[in-house]
Amino acid sequence: MMRPAEDLLERLGRIPELDIGTDVDLSRLNTFRIGGPADILVEVPTEAALSTLLFEIDRSRAPFQLLGLGSNVLVPDDGLRGVVARLVAGFKEVRTEDRRVWAGGAVTLAQIARRTAAQGLSGLEPLSGFPSTVGGAVFMNAGCYGTEIKDLLVEARVVGADGEVTVWTPEDLEPRYRSTRLQQVGGIVVSALFELVPGDAKGCLERIDELNRKRWESLPSGHPNVGSIFRNPPGDYAGRMIDECGLKGLRKGGAEISSKHGNVIVNLGDAKAADVLGLMLAARAAVKKRFDVRLEPEVVLTGELEAQWEKTVERAPQAGKARL
Ligand SMILES: Cc1cc2nc3c(=O)[nH]c(=O)nc-3n(C[C@H](O)[C@H](O)[C@H](O)COP(=O)(O)OP(=O)(O)OC[C@H]3O[C@@H](n4cnc5c(N)ncnc54)[C@H](O)[C@@H]3O)c2cc1C
Repeated sequence: MMRPAEDLLERLGRIPELDIGTDVDLSRLNTFRIGGPADILVEVPTEAALSTLLFEIDRSRAPFQLLGLGSNVLVPDDGLRGVVARLVAGFKEVRTEDRRVWAGGAVTLAQIARRTAAQGLSGLEPLSGFPSTVGGAVFMNAGCYGTEIKDLLVEARVVGADGEVTVWTPEDLEPRYRSTRLQQVGGIVVSALFELVPGDAKGCLERIDELNRKRWESLPSGHPNVGSIFRNPPGDYAGRMIDECGLKGLRKGGAEISSKHGNVIVNLGDAKAADVLGLMLAARAAVKKRFDVRLEPEVVLTGELEAQWEKTVERAPQAGKARL
């Protein structure tokens, strides 16, 4: 009799256009450079292939994780079971018409920001300085320098766990600080429509360069990381609090709370997910003790790491969290 994983693999093999790999090292697919292998990694080039893939995954109840640029994920040391997917090819298309820009879910913010700036369209400049796909940014409601992606969004096209397509307005997303309803109900952003304002092309491009310089001055460079590890609590900064607890420079295994920015953990070379989680727990405990504030992760804890975190910090897992 065929084992479930083999059965799933065989069914995925029948989906046209999918590029399928097994036992694929995930550490090269995230900016932390941490994590073990994916049982199955699929590269999905079209919406039709994505819908069929999601249908098969739903049917098999296999664990599923979508990755964008992997700039906000922590992957377990023993990797991810089930299926990990990445959007490629058809999801990298961009089209502009007057002030409106349609971008596929796998387009990077840096790409559309530069492209639209060069066309004399302004708006995306503040979001161009960190690694992100359009889909990942909408899912996270990513933001920088006072602009969040929801401010520019007209609508997002989303494929749900059942393979059905729906169109979400910013209101449907219920965007808050680094959070959207997609994080509860699931769904894959296959494209997004933005509305920008006319601007001077040269000025927009210069602003991108200026903001990027400023961005990199404030962040540790040279060691892999995922930017902010915790969400800022209301009215304060996680980095400031961790700094005041005297934790900058604290090391565990190959991971370190950056000595440049208290809310960034860096991989010094051979960090394990367990090292990062250990530092996160130490920072959370210290901040709770000193400020009576519970820091919450901004980084997405994938696979069993989320349950591990929830168990350790003695909180019930978020109710109704979706599998996608
Ligand atoms: C140096 C550095 C600086 C950073 N600075 C900032 C900053 O200033 N502001 C900020 O907001 N973030 C920042 N980040 C964090 C990160 O870049 C953002 O969260 C980014 O939006 C994540 O996009 P991604 O494509 O890499 O998603 P991933 O990290 O691959 O995934 C993150 C989550 O999004 C989901 N996801 C990815 N693609 C899709 C999709 N198409 N549809 C639905 N869900 C999807 C994934 O399943 C996962 O749950 C920084 C990161 C780094 C490394």
